[in-house]
Amino acid sequence: MYKKLFIPGPTHVRDEILAAQAAPMIGHRASEYSALQLEVTPKLQQLLYTQQRVYLYASSSTGVMEGAVRQASTQRVLNTVCGEFSSRWHEITRVNGLVCEQVAVPAGQAITPEIVDQALSAGAASGDPYDAVTVVMNETSTGVMSPVKDIAALVRAKYPDVLILVDAVSCMAGTKIEFDAWGLDVCLAGVQKCFALPPGLAICAVSDRARERAQQVEFPGHYFAYAEMDKRYDKGQTPATPAISLIQALNRQMDDILAEGLDRRWQRHADMAAFVQDWARRYFALFSDERYLSPTVTNISNTRGISVADLNKQLGERGAMISNGYGSLKEKCFRIAHMGDLTTDDMRWLLLQIEDILGL
Ligand SMILES: *Cc1c(COP(=O)(O)O)cnc(C)c1O
Repeated sequence: MYKKLFIPGPTHVRDEILAAQAAPMIGHRASEYSALQLEVTPKLQQLLYTQQRVYLYASSSTGVMEGAVRQASTQRVLNTVCGEFSSRWHEITRVNGLVCEQVAVPAGQAITPEIVDQALSAGAASGDPYDAVTVVMNETSTGVMSPVKDIAALVRAKYPDVLILVDAVSCMAGTKIEFDAWGLDVCLAGVQKCFALPPGLAICAVSDRARERAQQVEFPGHYFAYAEMDKRYDKGQTPATPAISLIQALNRQMDDILAEGLDRRWQRHADMAAFVQDWARRYFALFSDERYLSPTVTNISNTRGISVADLNKQLGERGAMISNGYGSLKEKCFRIAHMGDLTTDDMRWLLLQIEDILGL
């Protein structure tokens, strides 16, 4: 049976988008492809409130997380960690041979400007300063959104040489990210989350100063290298074969996103989040710090000791799927995603099914 996805990626894909993906194939060195890329890129710049470059990679987000750290540092990287995905970025940084440290908070808490300030100033005082910091904006494993705008303001004001790398995988296109005004250097996401497309394509905004930094890095890698992307950027092409079908679908989806209106889109996500959070407080409890709850995914503490696996099985028979707790939070929590093209009506329907199954 078809299951509507309420998991934090991949999420539900509308039929119109699936159809757009099935458009006839075009050659990636043909003018038709250049026209497509040159058409979709400004729409992504509008989404991210940026005049700087936005690259398209045939990759999942993890690939771009790797490419971003490789090109960001000639000194030392600070990885902020508040859950599984931010922890993974630290591991990615380490196994690429970069010098790095992590600063971690317990699961359910956010990364704050104070935490970043403390770590960066200790780095500077040690004589081995950091020149890049990674932040996962929306920690999908815990349902926490860290205040990236405030973190970036602090870093820009006090540590001008530190690049700000942001994993916005599970919130880009679901909440406002003002790339230029906030002073971000890299902001990346895959399209299977708030863009509500099938997986396989990643989007990455890169500042001019991050592109300059990349020129100074001895081993920036090849596949994700901005310098390689720049060789064909103005022409509307990528060095390697792009995910043409997904970009066709993305172009269609960006029209729909802009037609909805960005402010209305952010509000719809905030409304869905508030609806699910209220429900969670009534029947269970919220796992994470109330001040930093995610607008796109809610992590609910399993205070009733239900079997999340059984619940999901029964939801499956009714045509829906939610997520168990991530990693060590399995069965201790469950997660409901409210991202992409889902609506408050979808959430109402889903929560009624859960109430019915559990007899709440
Ligand atoms: C899903 C997710 C990732 C990994 O994305 P892939 O597309 O599977 O590589 C990374 N970070 C966050 C915050 C995520 O939610």
